[in-house]
Amino acid sequence: MSVMQAINPATGDVIATYQQHTAGEVAQKVASAGKAFAGWSTTSIEDRAALLPRLASVLEANKERYARLMTAEMGKPIKEARAEVEKCAWACRYYAEHGPAYLADDIVKTEAHKAFVAFRPLGVVLAVMPWNFPFWQVLRFAIPSLLAGNAALLKHASNVPGSALALEEALREAGLPDGVFQTLLIPSGMVEGVIRHDAVRAVTLTGSNAAGRAIAATAGACLKKSVLELGGSDPFVVLEDADLDKAAEAGAASRLFNTGQACIAAKRFIVIDSIAKKFEDKLAERLLARKMGDPMDESVALGALARADLRDELHDQVERSLKEGARNILGGAIPNEPGAFYPATILDGVEKGMPAFDEELFGPVASIIRASNEEQALKIANDTPYGLGAAVFTGDRKRGERIARDHFDAGVCFVNDFVKSDPRLPFGGVKESGYGRELGIFGIREFTNIKTVVVA
Ligand code: NAP
Repeated sequence: MSVMQAINPATGDVIATYQQHTAGEVAQKVASAGKAFAGWSTTSIEDRAALLPRLASVLEANKERYARLMTAEMGKPIKEARAEVEKCAWACRYYAEHGPAYLADDIVKTEAHKAFVAFRPLGVVLAVMPWNFPFWQVLRFAIPSLLAGNAALLKHASNVPGSALALEEALREAGLPDGVFQTLLIPSGMVEGVIRHDAVRAVTLTGSNAAGRAIAATAGACLKKSVLELGGSDPFVVLEDADLDKAAEAGAASRLFNTGQACIAAKRFIVIDSIAKKFEDKLAERLLARKMGDPMDESVALGALARADLRDELHDQVERSLKEGARNILGGAIPNEPGAFYPATILDGVEKGMPAFDEELFGPVASIIRASNEEQALKIANDTPYGLGAAVFTGDRKRGERIARDHFDAGVCFVNDFVKSDPRLPFGGVKESGYGRELGIFGIREFTNIKTVVVA
């Protein structure tokens, strides 16, 4: 029987070993999800919503345990892990309050006696999730989708099996009926078979573009709905009239949050030439101020990367960019100590054609790209296959609003702040960052049959 190992990336130690589910067990779980859906989808939305504050309480009661589990499995700083659990509890309470109204029938005036749109659950949804926010990524899909009356199967990333099982446990403890949310401990090679199963109606993936292409191809072949939340190479534009301290503070926070492993982290800092040096100095000062080390240490802001191979891949991207002519301003060397650590790094003089421009850098590496004016900066910002988030810093809010609204070719755009996800606001990308939305009113409707009913 195959096993799955959780390895602490800060030490290299094996934390736990789990048996993978066999094909037979997976088939049973998919079938029981179908049966559970039949019951769950006929409960009232008020009853389903009542579960969410209970889930919030379970998360809060177990916050320390869940946070330590995430930190041990994927290396994020413990303070950030606790904040992640709190954010999940916030999303529970938000959807408990607003979800029922988001799914209320929508009356449309026509010449018929009555016409309305109802938001009915789709069925069993498979969620394929990444390790970077082991609780948040799963729950930001699961909370609204379960509330809408769907059942869910989770295939979590192979390096966070403990978190995957803890999520199932939390939902059970909150009172979710058996079978409505189940974790499948399977490798990515078994995902296709699950999507093809008759009982599965849709699939959502948060992950890399390669996984997105594979999953979308299978979903397309079966004509099943898919939502993809993929990678990003978000621009962080700093204009000449920006408050540079504020921009540097936000830039450092965005680039180092989750040890740089966030899809919406600022990755390409596009800075107007005349202020570039000043901004770079301020950014370097703030990056250096954040301590790297044992992620369980309360004072650490830069933990370990999630796996040693991902750290090596990041370093390779840095080295190739330097070979292409980028300048190493800060960091850039693998520390001579155990664990998958990588220091805060700044590359200046980054240009198109270098990995630091063309590819997603999933770690604490800031690429600085200089632009001579706003027009050029915006051209560079959109010159990427990705389109997830984008931020602009300017002393003129109107100017920022115009840029965010009319010029950024991205799904989540911020002015004078770094890009964040928020249960109240839709989240998702365009271009190769994927399609579909999570969160807000759009997220909860994503896995529903938007059903038209006309009564003559
Ligand atoms: P990944 O390799 O794509 O893994 C994500 C999930 O997909 C895992 O559960 C993985 O399973 C599974 N998977 C991988 N290849 C697959 C395939 N061919 N078929 C089916 N499933 C497959 O991504 P990652 O490197 O762990 O995560 C980082 C990526 O996720 C980055 O690109 C990041 O930007 C993106 N991300 C996007 C968002 C967003 O909201 N847009 C949020 C966070 C992260 P195994 O672990 O078993 O391989």
